[in-house]
Amino acid sequence: MIDLVSLRAKPQSAAMFVPLRYREVGGDVLLTNPFGDWLFVTKEELAGMFKGEVGEGSALYERLASRNFIKARVDVALQADRMARKKRFLDYGPNLHAMVVTLRCNESCVYCHASRADMDAVHTDMTFEVAEKSVELALQSTSPSITIEFQGGEPLVHFDCVKHIVETARQKNRAYGKQLEFTMVSNLALMNDERLAWLVDNKVQICTSIDGPEAMHNKQRILAGGNAYREATKWIEKINKAYVNLGLDPVLYHVEALLTTTRALLPYPKEIVDTYVELGCRALFVRPVDPFGWAQRTAKTVEYPRSDYLAFYRAATDYVLELNKKGVQVLERYAAIFLTKILGDEEPNFLDVRNPGGAVIGQVAYSYDGSIFTSDEGRMVAQMGDPFFRVGSVFDTTYRQLMTHPTTRSLTLASNLDAQPDCVSCTYNPYCGIVPEHAYRTQGSIFGRMRESQMCAVHKGIQDYLFEKLREDDPATVEILRRWTTIRPRTHFVQASAAS
Ligand code: SF4
Repeated sequence: MIDLVSLRAKPQSAAMFVPLRYREVGGDVLLTNPFGDWLFVTKEELAGMFKGEVGEGSALYERLASRNFIKARVDVALQADRMARKKRFLDYGPNLHAMVVTLRCNESCVYCHASRADMDAVHTDMTFEVAEKSVELALQSTSPSITIEFQGGEPLVHFDCVKHIVETARQKNRAYGKQLEFTMVSNLALMNDERLAWLVDNKVQICTSIDGPEAMHNKQRILAGGNAYREATKWIEKINKAYVNLGLDPVLYHVEALLTTTRALLPYPKEIVDTYVELGCRALFVRPVDPFGWAQRTAKTVEYPRSDYLAFYRAATDYVLELNKKGVQVLERYAAIFLTKILGDEEPNFLDVRNPGGAVIGQVAYSYDGSIFTSDEGRMVAQMGDPFFRVGSVFDTTYRQLMTHPTTRSLTLASNLDAQPDCVSCTYNPYCGIVPEHAYRTQGSIFGRMRESQMCAVHKGIQDYLFEKLREDDPATVEILRRWTTIRPRTHFVQASAAS
């Protein structure tokens, strides 16, 4: 039996191969290189590689060369271009600008990450002055495309502010000419026909939460005097119909719904997937509970070991794959993000799984009172009483000050996987990403300790699952996984540019 831990490379081996990382997956060994290539070899083959026994021209040598593991066969200029392409997000400033138009919310979720305020807490409404200053700062980003995301609380509680931001941003963007988009994260319970018509006319994308079938959803998301599930699903149906009426392709244009997996949901992976499919959702994002807001307070009832989450994830995604094989088009979002890197060789720029991460350089959060945070997670930590991630105020901080803030610099370093003790040697380094705000909350340091990190356990477990599927190499499964990597831009949601 070959013990991978005790393998030591001979000097001739180091001379032959590019730097590589390896991990046992499904009985074989997964190799990855810094360019993002991967290959399965047997343990015996790996031992042979380390002993310098791979002869030039042998079958293994050619397999390794075909995936850029043989130094002498690497086209350096080509690989440099490839890596630069995947890191091109570093050429630009933040694309995502989360605006917390109010902390008030009409629902009360057991895990509320945002630490929502009661409906009478009108002092947590964003003023139009703060809204205008936030928009002005967002548009100064050097990114050619800007997405303003309405967050809360519940944005529909302060809908006038949502409208004001959309109108102000569109008007101010005449001078900037950015590719501008809007997204609203809402529980939909305060939607009405007039608001929906305005949102559709103004091309504001809508995203909601569905936490399983009706009884489960309503237990997690409590709507006083109402039925949170029925409200959400009624409006999902209406919104999707409105897109169809505009002649938009429902595969691309539909309400995106997110799942927050609490302990109560763990026994029901199939029922939850079925709920999403019945609602016409084409994507399901199986996210664990985050350690922010009320989830900390209610941890005793909502939390669980991450091994339980991963068992749930595997069961849910296995079932999603089974449905795909029967012709149902639905994908799991976490898998799609990783697979876009693993199979698609593209960087989807999902800020929580990016290297380096997105704090300030990829996203900025503007709170209702004008405070600026490194991310939506950063403002959630502030809402819990710790302003560690506050990097300024819309009243007196310039764009340059935000980008060069010591916290921005520190978080960029802390999320650089090549500066993290465990990540630097991890096989999944080319595809992974970490969130320093998460490490700070759970481990007391923005650098964290990945071998004890829940976030790392989730990322590692999902990538283990995906590579197990790729090792099995079932053609039907691989074809489905490849399909999930297709990135189709939703151009309908791009606002008319300054020139048009
Ligand atoms: S976070 Fe974990 S899985 Fe991801 S690169 Fe770091 S050690 Fe590997």
